[in-house]
Amino acid sequence: MSDRNDEAFADCVQCAKPTEYPADRPGITLCPVCEWQEAQRTACSG
Ligand SMILES: [Zn+2]
Repeated sequence: MSDRNDEAFADCVQCAKPTEYPADRPGITLCPVCEWQEAQRTACSG
């Protein structure tokens, strides 16, 4: 038995896929893919 619930993970705000973050995590939650893409965008800005 386990009292952990898989649905406690937040969905990615960009692609709606499940993330590794808990649903009550403050701020924007991104899946690893979107997180990587966001990092690339940030790195390329300017
Ligand atoms: Zn995503």
